[in-house]
Amino acid sequence: MTDGGDPAGRYAEVLNRYLAEPGERALYDASLLSRDLVRAGIGPEEIVALHVEALEQALGACSLRQQARCIGNGHQFLLEVMIAYGLAYSEYLELKVRERDEEAERAEQARVELLATVAHELRTPLTAALGNIDLATRSLSRGRADRVPGLLGTTREALGRLSRLTANLARATQDGPPPLAPAPHDLCLLLADACTWVEPAAAEKGIAVVRNGLPPALPVECDADAMLSVFGNLLSNAVRYTPNDGRVCVACGVEGDEVWVNVADTGIGMAPEVKARIFEKFYRAREARDVEAQGLGLGLALVNDLVVAHGGRVEVESEPGAGSTFRVVLPRRDERQEGERG
Ligand code: ADP
Repeated sequence: MTDGGDPAGRYAEVLNRYLAEPGERALYDASLLSRDLVRAGIGPEEIVALHVEALEQALGACSLRQQARCIGNGHQFLLEVMIAYGLAYSEYLELKVRERDEEAERAEQARVELLATVAHELRTPLTAALGNIDLATRSLSRGRADRVPGLLGTTREALGRLSRLTANLARATQDGPPPLAPAPHDLCLLLADACTWVEPAAAEKGIAVVRNGLPPALPVECDADAMLSVFGNLLSNAVRYTPNDGRVCVACGVEGDEVWVNVADTGIGMAPEVKARIFEKFYRAREARDVEAQGLGLGLALVNDLVVAHGGRVEVESEPGAGSTFRVVLPRRDERQEGERG
């Protein structure tokens, strides 16, 4: 007798076999039944009820003399079932406790790893900024003021990265749309600011950041900090995921009642299965980890949240090894609104 079907339904069948021929084989079946009862979540009280019902039915078909023997054997059977039940139950509990311990250990491990990554991510730009400020101070004291603008530029880039990281982290812990303070802005100016931030990092890798025929102005209703974060993240990714001597092109324009901004790179690109997951929090492709150890996998989740909160969308075109183009599309600012505001 192996487990099969509803153990409560099998109780009477196993008991009857035992009553007909009490022996090792029938007791073994009773122990298997107990294991199935534990798995099915049937408790001791229910087992006693099942036993009484099954025994009553069995006694109905017996003579008085047989009944006395059946009751004795029936009690023996119940005792065996209960002992086997107790053993199976303690094994079951041990298994559950072990599973819970393993799960808690895995969660703790993930927490420690995340903390270590976050600490590392924050420390890197902070150390770079502090180092550059020290260098700038020393350069000034040695009369090498010519070195200061470059060092301040690199410091600014490091602080920009730090500010993007903290914004990404803060956002990762929140649900719902991000709070925005929209106002009329020129998207071209915001884009130019974000380019200035990443230029030192790009220069270090020999990557040219090309601004492709930007229009004189591109009016949008947006939260300026949010847009700086969007372009900062996209440009920083473009530089990080592009090998030395590559190219990052920025372009923007108007199409119908929408404005668009393209950030295109000649970097590692993405396979379709990677592209499908890049907006998930904490997702990083294996290829991305290979070329760029740093990263929390939070930037694009924030970019998408912010753009969607502005009533826009982010589109991506990419081929492995052939670069990526991220396109941010936003509603164009209503000219009448602009007129009303003067
Ligand atoms: P992070 O860059 O910190 O890993 P992001 O959320 O900004 O986090 O990006 C998520 C993932 O999307 C990256 O790890 C990488 O796999 C992929 N990705 C983002 N931008 C690019 C890009 N320009 N080129 C290739 N892959 C990219």
